[in-house]
Amino acid sequence: MTQLLTPGDSSRRPEGRHPSGWPSAQTVPLVDVFAALDTSPRGLTVAEAVLRRDRYGANELPRAGRRGLWRQLAAQFTDLFAIVLLVASAITFLAYELQQPRDAGTFRLAVAILAVVVLNASIGFAQEYSAERTAQSLQAMVPHTCRVLRDGERRELPARELVPGDVVVLEAGDAVPADCRLVEAHEVSVNNAALTGESDAVGRTREPVAAGPLLEARNCVFMGTDVVAGSAKAVVFATGAATEFGRIFRLAAAAPRQKTPLQLQVASMARRVAGVALAIGAALFAVRVPTGQPFVETFVFALGVMVALVPEGLPATLSVSLAIGVRRMARRHALVKQLLAVEALGSTTVVCTDKTGTLTQAEMTVAHVWAGGTSHPVSGVGYAPVGEVTDAAPVRELLGAAALCCNARLVPPPADAGRCPRSGRGGWRVLGDTTEGALLVAAAKAGIDLAAEEARAPRVAEYPFDSIRKLMSTVHRAADADTYRAYVKGAPQELLARCTDIDWKGRRRPLTDELRADVTETNDQLAAQGLRVLAAAWRPVTGPRATQDETESGLTLLGLVGMLDPPRPEVSGAVDACRRAGVRIVMVTGDHPLTAEAVARRVGIVRQAAPAIVTGARLDRMDDDALDGLLAEPAELLLCRVSPEHKMRVVTALQRRGEVVAVTGDGANDAPALKHADIGVAMGASGTDVAREAAVMVLLDDSFASIAAAVRLGRSVYQNIRKFLIYLFSHNIAELVPILAATFAGFPLVPITAVQILAIDLGSDVLPALALGAEPPEPDVMERPPRSRRERLFSLTVMGRILFLGGIQALGVCVVFFWHIHASGIPYSDFTEDDTVYREAITLVQAGIVVSQFFNALAVRTDRQSIFRIGLLSNPWLLAAGCFGIGLMAAISYLPALQAVFHTAPLAAADWAVLGAFGVLLLAAEETRKWWLRCHRPVVGKGGKR
Ligand code: ATP
Repeated sequence: MTQLLTPGDSSRRPEGRHPSGWPSAQTVPLVDVFAALDTSPRGLTVAEAVLRRDRYGANELPRAGRRGLWRQLAAQFTDLFAIVLLVASAITFLAYELQQPRDAGTFRLAVAILAVVVLNASIGFAQEYSAERTAQSLQAMVPHTCRVLRDGERRELPARELVPGDVVVLEAGDAVPADCRLVEAHEVSVNNAALTGESDAVGRTREPVAAGPLLEARNCVFMGTDVVAGSAKAVVFATGAATEFGRIFRLAAAAPRQKTPLQLQVASMARRVAGVALAIGAALFAVRVPTGQPFVETFVFALGVMVALVPEGLPATLSVSLAIGVRRMARRHALVKQLLAVEALGSTTVVCTDKTGTLTQAEMTVAHVWAGGTSHPVSGVGYAPVGEVTDAAPVRELLGAAALCCNARLVPPPADAGRCPRSGRGGWRVLGDTTEGALLVAAAKAGIDLAAEEARAPRVAEYPFDSIRKLMSTVHRAADADTYRAYVKGAPQELLARCTDIDWKGRRRPLTDELRADVTETNDQLAAQGLRVLAAAWRPVTGPRATQDETESGLTLLGLVGMLDPPRPEVSGAVDACRRAGVRIVMVTGDHPLTAEAVARRVGIVRQAAPAIVTGARLDRMDDDALDGLLAEPAELLLCRVSPEHKMRVVTALQRRGEVVAVTGDGANDAPALKHADIGVAMGASGTDVAREAAVMVLLDDSFASIAAAVRLGRSVYQNIRKFLIYLFSHNIAELVPILAATFAGFPLVPITAVQILAIDLGSDVLPALALGAEPPEPDVMERPPRSRRERLFSLTVMGRILFLGGIQALGVCVVFFWHIHASGIPYSDFTEDDTVYREAITLVQAGIVVSQFFNALAVRTDRQSIFRIGLLSNPWLLAAGCFGIGLMAAISYLPALQAVFHTAPLAAADWAVLGAFGVLLLAAEETRKWWLRCHRPVVGKGGKR
């Protein structure tokens, strides 16, 4: 260990920062960088890395300051509803103090209101706490990894394992994992927006720069920023809190929690209902006081009714339902980063999807190599270099050039083979781009020793791949050390345009129109089989600093390579489901139109004989009107050979047409489209950090099927929310109508007391509402067209159902109440609160609501389907919650202690039978309504209207 790493030094510097790394990181001459950081071009040794990890700690920032548990709990008591209820409880206590004589009922009401506040706060707190825990654990499922050289070998490590002195390999799309000094830079530019607020990409170099503010050093890259283009190697000089990002990072700057439009809609509805409740309370007070009722009692009664009608538990139930949706999606490999996406997913109308990895397995295997007019089939599947290239000699040059022009690495089967998403058959896997992985395998099958080739012709420069050029090139020093060669590989059309010659059976020939047509025809033939085709070419260049123009022009074509990428087996089912759900699928790919069409046919995206296949070049020639016209056509649409800019343009055009667009993306350049779309979907396994950052949903398995699953769950979350809203609001009608009826019929007492109403809200309402929020998706959820974006949660249909169900419930309880009162033969004016008949009647009303709510909960489980089709018993939580409510009601009716609290009386078996019969009637009425709906209003768009 050198003196630079003595413990004495570390005591004077911030944790995670190398002593010599600052302030001189940018001024150290290139040759001294490794020595200054006690490392080497081969990276640290594993043993040294362990030592440094102990010394400098993990490369992570301290967790953002979370509110303490007590503060989180306290916050629950400061929201609007809680304050209203606390004030109401205080007034009731005051009224109790003022009453002469004091009425125990008033005291009970005050306590009950307080209980409501505490219960709501507990639910809210538990929900928030678990949502936070879920968010944390979900984030941990997408570890941030980086590529590092250790002992001279390239490895993929969690970014938190980095230590000062590590040599990291950076590519476009990577998030920079720590503060580093560049030692190799190939056309690198970074986006420093997170640090400097400047969103334009800035170029980087490896040369030393003058001393100055570290953040302005052009030879350094910093944690929290992104590599936008190019590739680089860099030595870490600061990690964790010692980085510039760590310094700037303010713990308190936690982003404010945003509410989704749905939450806002529900909150505003709840406020409106609270306003109505207040008005009803005031009106009841105004009606009853002139009839000679005692003032304080009437006031307390009105207050109680008001409190009972306020939907206090609604916001918490809504959040729980959304959180359940998020968790279910995570189980289906779709991590949702914002609750907003859960809603948007339910109304998705178009999915713009990539091909490789999303529709296909991204397990590329070279199946054909073509050079000099001859095709050479290749045997073997996957990344294991097992198999052979038929008659390999004539294609060695081609495969050698293609392999030298790769950044990916093949990794032999490790102990954890099979766990990595990009691990192929036999446990071999690819570190980096899978297309390149396939080329490396083919080269190995042709007997090429790549390590020896790289040693003979070391790479001196690189122009990295980008999806606009669709090319990548590298410059190599030849064995005689004086000459240099450029190898270029990429999309055949792009490469062919830059070739002047062709290698034909070992001889260079001018690329005549005839030969060009030959190559194009071969390319089309391979693409029509669904193969991804790459071409490779070479040329001598003047030196290591040959410009990109020089490197990528006047090339000699070596041949074509066609690789297989089998479709994911689960995709065709998912495509079919989307079709039936009226969700349009547009394939957006950088690949050849014929390849795209072949794959699209295999997975079922294309069924028509002549789908619309539009290339990026044609898109460029279209103005916005023409593009709108194209998108308006119902034809199946494939966008091929497009760049991320095209993707962005198509997303914008679709949104202009009112579509709700989900778009997939993996590259750094996809970030604008991902951000702009209603649902940006990034690839968790193969995507770049930048894409994952920009998206609101990350697919852990990259599969299209996971998007379809998320759409289905998104739809069901929205449906479930509607279900418990109908459930909750309809019973409010059943609570209110008897009170109004009694008031207008001149009955001197209330048919249900405020404390009873609170018992219903807490006993029979909250748990079934939560259980409804957790309903599994209805079987026909993907048989309907997408929900319109303009559709309000409280639509006319929803209001209609609330009135229908609430009306039946209200009718039932009014009938049992007045029937019981009239059957006794006692005149209205003789009734007192302690009358047994009156106590029985109000017990009947309370039990009537509880029992009908049980049937109501079953009725709202489906919108149109018969409840018997999904199975009466298929949501056991709901049954348990309903039974709990009825059990509680029985206790209130029969236990003397509770009878005293609620002023109730024991019910007879016949009473329960009558109430049960009313419940069955409610279910039958709702079944009839659904049956009528199914007969007279068939679902439009079923079977894929697009
Ligand atoms: P997909 O929809 O299949 O995922 P994509 O939109 O990601 O495709 P790109 O990765 O941009 O497509 O690739 C476009 C074309 O560029 C490919 O068809 C291939 O010919 C070529 N290509 C892909 N990867 C490389 C690479 N690493 N080096 C050189 N050329 C490549």
